[in-house]
Amino acid sequence: MLQQTKVFKFGGASLRDASAIRNVGNILQKFSSEKLVIIVSAMGKTTNALEEVANSYWQGNPAAAKEKLTAIHASVTEIIQELFAEVPESLTASLNDLFVSVEWALDEAPNEEYDFDYDQIVSLGELVSSHIVATYLDRIGLSTNWVDARDIIQTDNTYREGWVKWPETVTRAQSQLPPLLEQKNFILTQGFIGNTSENYTTTLGREGSDYSAAIFSYCLDAESMSIWKDVPGVLTADPRLFEHVTKIDRLSYKEAIEMTYYGAKVIHPKTIKPLQNKSIPLYVRSFIEPDAPGTLVTDDAGDAYPPMVAVEKDQALINISTRDFSFVAEHHIKELFGHITTTRLQVNMMQNTAISFNVVVNDIDDRVERFCALVNEHFKTTVDRDLELITVRHYTSEVVESLRRGKVNMLEGRLPLTLQMVVKDVPVMRRKKLE
Ligand code: ADP
Ligand code: ASP
Ligand code: MG
Repeated sequence: MLQQTKVFKFGGASLRDASAIRNVGNILQKFSSEKLVIIVSAMGKTTNALEEVANSYWQGNPAAAKEKLTAIHASVTEIIQELFAEVPESLTASLNDLFVSVEWALDEAPNEEYDFDYDQIVSLGELVSSHIVATYLDRIGLSTNWVDARDIIQTDNTYREGWVKWPETVTRAQSQLPPLLEQKNFILTQGFIGNTSENYTTTLGREGSDYSAAIFSYCLDAESMSIWKDVPGVLTADPRLFEHVTKIDRLSYKEAIEMTYYGAKVIHPKTIKPLQNKSIPLYVRSFIEPDAPGTLVTDDAGDAYPPMVAVEKDQALINISTRDFSFVAEHHIKELFGHITTTRLQVNMMQNTAISFNVVVNDIDDRVERFCALVNEHFKTTVDRDLELITVRHYTSEVVESLRRGKVNMLEGRLPLTLQMVVKDVPVMRRKKLE
C-alpha cells in the first residue's frame, strides 16, 4: 500500500528570497523519506506586484504594465542568481517562457472582464516560484515531480474567486497523483490557481494557497497537512497588531473556522472545511523554528480557550432605509440579498431596525458602489468606510474594554461566545490656537 501522504504548504514569507528558499530546502531534507505534496505560493509580495501589472494594463497603460512586469522578472532573476552557483539553463528558459507569455497578453486589448485578465496575469507568481523551488530541490538531491495545479484543481469561471468543482478535482487528483508519488517521494505544485472547463486559469481568492493545500489534502485523504508560517502557530491575536499574544497549542476546527472567517489571517478561511470533512489534522508551524510543535487543529481539541481577537480591516457599513418610511419587511430583505449576491458583497454583520437595514461588508473594488446603485430605486443608502471589524471569541470585559479604547463603536453584536464590534478611530480633536 502507498505510504500515506502529507501535504505541506509554504507561503510567500517562507520563499521571500534566496536564503528563505534554502531554509525551505533544509526543512524538506528532514522529510526526504516521506511522501509529500508540497504547495508553494508566489515568493514574498510578488502577487501584490502582479496586481499592479494587471491594474496598469486594465487602466489602458500597457507600457507601464510591461515595465512593472520587467521589474518583477529582474528581481526573480536576482534571487535565482543568488540561489544557484550556476543557474540551470532549463530554469532560465522556463521562466522566460512564463514572463513572455504574460508580456504577449499585455499586447492584446483587455478582455471585457477585469477579473478574467487579473487571473491570467496574477497566476504567474505561483508558476514562477514552483519552477524555482522544484529546480532548487532537485539541486540539493530532493527530486520532485512538478505538477501544474491547473491539471488537478477544476473550478467554475468565477474569476478571482474560482469555486472548486469537487468531483472533477477529486477524480483528477486520485488518478494522476498517486502514480507520481510512487515514482518520487515529492510532488511540488502551486497554490492559489485552478482551471476552468474552457482551459482558462482562475485564482481562488487572495491568500488562497492554504485552501489549495486543503483541496489536495482532501483529495488524497492526507495523513496531515502543515502550513509553514513566520509565526510559532496560531496566536491569540495578530502579533503585528497586538502585544502580549500567546500561542494556542490546540484548536478545534470550529474555533479555527470562526476566527479565520473574521480575519485571523494566519489561515485562509476556506481551508478548514475540507480538512474537517475528512478529519485531517492541520499543523500551523514555524519555518523559523521548524522543530517546534506549532498549533494542532483537530476535532477533539477541548473547549477551554483564552480570549482570541481577529481584526478585519477595510470594512464598509451600509445603512439602507426605505424611501417611504415603510418597515423593512421580508420581501425587502429578499430583494437586498439578491443584489448582495449579484455584486458579490461579502457580509460580515447585519442588524435591522424598523425602517433600516445595516450590513457590514468587506470593501472590495467598487462592489459597494455597484450595490448602492442597484438598490437606489427603492432605498436610501449611506455608507461609512475605513472601518474595522473586531471579533473576540471567548471575550472578557477587560479585553473588550481595552479594545474599545480610542475607538468609536458603530455597531456591536454579542452571542454567548462571540462579541463583534465595528469601529473607527476616534478623530483626534485639536484645540484651535487662540491668536
Ligand atoms: P503566508 O506566508 O503563508 O502567506 P500569512 O502572511 O498569510 O502567511 O500568515 C501569517 C501571518 O498571519 C503572520 O505573520 C501574522 O501577522 C498573521 N496573523 C493574523 N492573525 C494571526 C493569529 N491569530 N495568529 C498568528 N498569526 C496571525
Ligand atoms: N500568492 C497569493 C496571494 O498572495 C496566494 C497566497 O499566497 O496564498 O494572495
Ligand atoms: Mg499569505
